[in-house]
Amino acid sequence: MMIVMKPTATEEEIQGVIDRIQSVGARAHPSRGDEVTVIGAIGDREHVARLELEGTPGVERVVPILKPYKLSSTQFKHGERTVLDIAGRKIGGQSFALIAGPCTVESREQTLETARVVRDAGATLFRGGAYKPRTSPYAFQGLGWDGLDLLVTAGRESGLPVVTEVMAVDQVQRMAKAADILQVGARNMQNFDLLRELGKVDRPVLLKRGLSSTIEEWLAAAEYVVAQGNQQVILCERGIRTFESATRNTLDLSAVAVIRERSHLPVIVDPSHGTGQRRYVAPMAWAARAAGAHGLLIEVHPDPDQALSDADQSLSFDQFAALMRQLAAVPGSTAAG
Ligand code: PEP
Ligand code: MN
Repeated sequence: MMIVMKPTATEEEIQGVIDRIQSVGARAHPSRGDEVTVIGAIGDREHVARLELEGTPGVERVVPILKPYKLSSTQFKHGERTVLDIAGRKIGGQSFALIAGPCTVESREQTLETARVVRDAGATLFRGGAYKPRTSPYAFQGLGWDGLDLLVTAGRESGLPVVTEVMAVDQVQRMAKAADILQVGARNMQNFDLLRELGKVDRPVLLKRGLSSTIEEWLAAAEYVVAQGNQQVILCERGIRTFESATRNTLDLSAVAVIRERSHLPVIVDPSHGTGQRRYVAPMAWAARAAGAHGLLIEVHPDPDQALSDADQSLSFDQFAALMRQLAAVPGSTAAG
């Protein structure tokens, strides 16, 4: 249930509604916009309905939300969009974020060099996996906490905020202290315990779309984080499984348009995992920007063919720099917010 307050509602009236929602055991999530305040009431629908909040002083109207995502929905923010500020780098709104770096942190030299090069080419954030969700248990699993230390060092040295994947509940607190953005990989999109734990920390969460997830399931996964109190979620389209085998996944760029319609959260695109082939990364990156994505996630490696994971899709330094130059010529459609 969404309670839309009148533009003239006073602070006491807003608090009065919050108190009444809480009095029936439901949770109240106020969102204070420039014009109006909207209060999301999350809990037993019947209990909240019985409060008969229509007619309460300061209340404009009460809107039921039938979707499994509520606080993440466009309705909740009343047309306003979430813009995150990560150490001065904006994600969402009219800005275009470029997250680049290796699939996996492999060594000190590889990590520091890549961070410097992508920064000089114009990347706004640096990524690298310390814990890797590999399909085979015999594949390289990442350097773990040592890898995270290297990533943080590279971030500090290059001046770029860092993004890394968190795979388990017991990693959340420690990773939240070190990394600027915590990534939830496609394979963990519906790890609800992990999502709930991430909802309790004050760190942005980059939530990748599950391999076979619908957009509705993806938004419902975001809702797990937001409902716990952490509103800082970035959605990332990274391709889904289809019958098509020419590419590693099928990059669903229409998801960008759908998310922008249904949610106030920023949405970025990962054409590296989306295609799995480095020669397709640039065209899909241009397309993502033109489609209105709020940014990109691109894998880059000093010697792509030798990368310990995702070699086929990693760009060389030169390829990444060329892509950055080309992107500048592609009009983004984030002007719409
Ligand atoms: C990654 O970003 O390296 C990764 C493992 O991504 P995904 O979860 O989308 O497969
Ligand atoms: Mn990867």
